[in-house]
Amino acid sequence: MSAILRFAPSPTGRLHIGNLRTALFNWLFAMREGGQFILRFDDTDRERSRREYADLIETDLRWIGIEPHRVARQSERIALYDAAAETLKAKGLLYPCYETPDELDRRRKRQAARGLPPVYGREALKLSPEERAALEAEGRKPHWRFLLPNFKGDPFAPKRTDVTFDDLIKGPQTIDLASLSDPVLIRGDGSYLYTLPSVVDDAEMGVTHIIRGDDHVTNTAVQYALFEALGAKAPVFGHHNLLTTVGGEGLSKRSGALSLETLRDEGFEPMAVASLAVLVGMSGSIEPVSDLERLSERLNFREVSASASKFDPAELDRLNREIVHGLEFEAVATRIATMDISPEHAEAFWLAVRANCDKVGDAWAWAEIVFGTIETPPLQDDGEATFRASAARLLPEGEIGAETFKEWTARIKSETGVKGKALFLPLRRAITGLDHGPELGPLLPLIGRERLLARLQ
Ligand code: GLU
Repeated sequence: MSAILRFAPSPTGRLHIGNLRTALFNWLFAMREGGQFILRFDDTDRERSRREYADLIETDLRWIGIEPHRVARQSERIALYDAAAETLKAKGLLYPCYETPDELDRRRKRQAARGLPPVYGREALKLSPEERAALEAEGRKPHWRFLLPNFKGDPFAPKRTDVTFDDLIKGPQTIDLASLSDPVLIRGDGSYLYTLPSVVDDAEMGVTHIIRGDDHVTNTAVQYALFEALGAKAPVFGHHNLLTTVGGEGLSKRSGALSLETLRDEGFEPMAVASLAVLVGMSGSIEPVSDLERLSERLNFREVSASASKFDPAELDRLNREIVHGLEFEAVATRIATMDISPEHAEAFWLAVRANCDKVGDAWAWAEIVFGTIETPPLQDDGEATFRASAARLLPEGEIGAETFKEWTARIKSETGVKGKALFLPLRRAITGLDHGPELGPLLPLIGRERLLARLQ
């Protein structure tokens, strides 16, 4: 059976690099196994979900190179969840509750005062049909809880009931269902929380593996019980560590700073972002990987650290720089085409300047220096004026090619006796207006005779 994976964001904001970590773990695993990847929007929360966010999430994923085999929306699959809810109700596993958040809160406080865990005591299960009718007559709408299978005979006397599973990332896990409250599956307004729809979809879509953040480990125990209640086989689960900021705070869809959109707008390369999202918090060095295929070979779930990993923007800068320095012209051609450079010079230009770009966009400034106008720095002394005049006079005749720079500087050296830094620095300052920059040799043919002579005046 081939692997079927899914990434299931709720479209309530933009994706951040931590969400991308989850998406990539699933995508790369599917890629490596020759399987399928489903992008499923968990959009049953009508108040917070937005179609625009769903579309933007798709755009962000495609920017990284994730091309889902299928896109699904839970809001279009409600009939399936209704059917599952009916099945559970018929089995007595889904029961109506009428407590308000306030009532539940007060109850939890009383439990805490008595040193009891804040687990829901199934009080609503005790309601008689008349009591329920009376509450409904008051205008209360029920929310519905799933009766966890953590008891034998008497639901008011839960017993230790371990769910055990072999986590693909964390290894063997054990969770006691008696330590959990019966989860609410349906809200008072009739909308579904993610727990049931997720199980229904994973079963219906034949999902074989679920990789998600380790904030979901407890949900997994509940969902195991739901798979069983619905007569379906649970997939294999893997829970990865979460990413935090350098300061240790969790990433949130609302803190825009580390969103993929921001990173893209700031000019980061998708593979720098993807390499970091996957390799941070995994043993082994964090190095730039050139494509997703290679990144999938680096994926090793058993190497994912157990504790949270910090996302360090400086690391992203480094990876980006390393990637940009090695980018072939084809990878940047469309971007270079937006700069004012004649197509015949575009490739030579990129290869000449890439080692001096932290981001591809830095090439703009070099394009201006090479093909536009520069501000020639003021002469430092009379010697520099004489030097420039000699350099202009000694520029070899004929076409300026790859070898011209060598020939030119050899001539200057033999005629003036100036060499080393005393030769190269004033030359660089005159030609580029700067004290540092790309190798001058490859730049000369691009700058051309006319501009060179003008800058040496
Ligand atoms: N919508 C859930 C989330 O974003 C999905 C969790 C899961 O992958 O099952 O956390």
